[in-house]
Amino acid sequence: MDKFDIHDNSEDDFGYSLRPETLDEFIGQEKAKEQLRIHIDAVKSRRAAKSKRTVKSKDYVLEHVLLVGPPGLGKTTLAKIIANEFGTNFKQTIGPALERLDLASTLTSLEEGDILFIDEIHRMKRISQESLYPVLEEFELDLAIGQGPGSDVVQVDIAPFTLVGATTREGMLEGPFRTRIGIYIHLDYYTPEDIQQVIRINSAKLNIKIEEDAEYALALRARGTMRIANKLLANVRDYAQVKSGGVLTLDVVEEALEFFGIDERGFNAQDYTYFRVLIQNFNGRAGRKALAIALSEDERTIEEVYEPHYIKEGFLKPTPSGRVATEAAYEYFGYPISKHPTLFDL
Ligand code: ADP
Repeated sequence: MDKFDIHDNSEDDFGYSLRPETLDEFIGQEKAKEQLRIHIDAVKSRRAAKSKRTVKSKDYVLEHVLLVGPPGLGKTTLAKIIANEFGTNFKQTIGPALERLDLASTLTSLEEGDILFIDEIHRMKRISQESLYPVLEEFELDLAIGQGPGSDVVQVDIAPFTLVGATTREGMLEGPFRTRIGIYIHLDYYTPEDIQQVIRINSAKLNIKIEEDAEYALALRARGTMRIANKLLANVRDYAQVKSGGVLTLDVVEEALEFFGIDERGFNAQDYTYFRVLIQNFNGRAGRKALAIALSEDERTIEEVYEPHYIKEGFLKPTPSGRVATEAAYEYFGYPISKHPTLFDL
């Protein structure tokens, strides 16, 4: 995909990480931060009160956490912040890639209080998930030794740690998993004001000169997503450097965004294609599979990355008979409203 691919988890846009490192530096998501702050402080105070003779106990590590929300909103960042807050190790892996054996070696290498971050946890293989259940509850791992009739199962103690899972699809998580999670954190799209603040902070970190109205113009096009805001800033900075000596004024930002094919609400060529196909090829109503085939795009990407934004903008409605482009979408993308499907069958 193009440079605005929001799956891309790399931090190379500016050559180094812009991730906030503490909860106080993390902008927005007030409810999520407050929740985390309370749980983190509670564990810290229990630890401070713990006597030297106390045996290892899971009371002294944070309960397992599930971070839920669309890509690019700060789930990985928050997981790292939790580790920073406790001064513990941070280990990161991704659900679908996690085989049972990798999981076992990762788990046995954990130290007390470590953070194990599993991204896309809803896509973990079932067998890996199942081997994780006793670990999450009792910090005991069942390890199979050998194969066939002579094989045996031994139980291995795992140091009490905190699993931080991230998911875009909470509903896809198995029941036994959910019951073992203590802290649920939901992240929502950011307001333009929060995004503007981050653009300002990051511009200062990077020595980018940007005017206030230009910050806001960028923020409005970031689709409520911090990762997109950072990518837009990176692209616009390059454009300004080459075309206008570096200062990001509103004019330069608007010119650059037009050059990159981003419209005033942050929609790009892919979004225009999505609505063209949905409206023109399917008369405004299509099933997920058919749409994915017509767009030559992965169903999951469409459902988890693009569509939540369209729904939030009021351009798309999921219905039992497929996704429907709303009248607002017809209007915005320039299609005659007289052809809207709800005029015929609702
Ligand atoms: P996710 O794991 O949800 O896909 P990330 O944690 O990787 O998202 O965040 C994407 C980028 O956005 C990070 O590089 C980080 O710098 C930035 N970011 C996310 N949330 C915030 C925030 N609240 N404040 C500042 N920057 C943020």
